[in-house]
Amino acid sequence: MLSLRELSITRGQGAAGHAVHLPRLELATGEVMAVVGPSGCGKSTLLEAIGLLLTPTALERFTLGSERTDLTALLQARNERALAEIRSRDLGFLLQSGGLLPFLSVRDNIALPRRLLGMPIHSERVAHACDVLGLEPLLDKRPGALSIGERQRTAFVRAMAHEPRLLLADEPTAALDPQAGERLFGLIVSLVQELQMAALVVSHDLALVTHFQLPRLAATLTPGGCRFAPDT
Ligand code: ADP
Ligand code: MG
Repeated sequence: MLSLRELSITRGQGAAGHAVHLPRLELATGEVMAVVGPSGCGKSTLLEAIGLLLTPTALERFTLGSERTDLTALLQARNERALAEIRSRDLGFLLQSGGLLPFLSVRDNIALPRRLLGMPIHSERVAHACDVLGLEPLLDKRPGALSIGERQRTAFVRAMAHEPRLLLADEPTAALDPQAGERLFGLIVSLVQELQMAALVVSHDLALVTHFQLPRLAATLTPGGCRFAPDT
């Protein structure tokens, strides 16, 4: 599903720069992998690079999907139009900052990815996700009227609404109580299997990661940055 070799991204300049390096990553369909490491090591940076939001400083291979669309050339050429299309169709992004549109209701925020892609607005899976996460009573509210945890759950449903190939979730349970966090993780694992997607989930919650027996991509600090490798 996802194959990456020698991805490097640098944040900041010179001595203050922070270099994030991922030598190798393979994600199979149906697989959910946790990204773990200390605060500031580069987890969000890594997710944003894999989400085609940052231009890498080095990249040997990056393919996505069964037909192995090669993203390396598109990134190197900064082909923004093609990258934007892949982002909206194939990727589902749950950013750490949430990113809901304040002037749309929860219902319309969730419907937006499907609407933009010309998909039917109704989806049994979206309705099921709203049900499991307790969003139904909130559908007509705007994000400003929600708690942070409610916003986070809404942002998750929006990230998966268009059934992307790859879900990238940055600390999706940070504002949730333990029970809601477990429900959200359970939903991610079952959706990814059901839809034959793959997911990378940044999480501080090692108890949840262990409970769901997720494989881990773990950070090791290096001089001037950080390296991510599967933790076996
Ligand atoms: P994490 O998500 O693991 O907490 P981040 O990826 O957010 O870490 O940050 C990694 C490093 O990159 C940190 O040192 C941070 O200060 C720096 N950084 C993050 N975002 C930016 C940015 N937009 N510009 C410059 N440096 C950044
Ligand atoms: Mg982060």
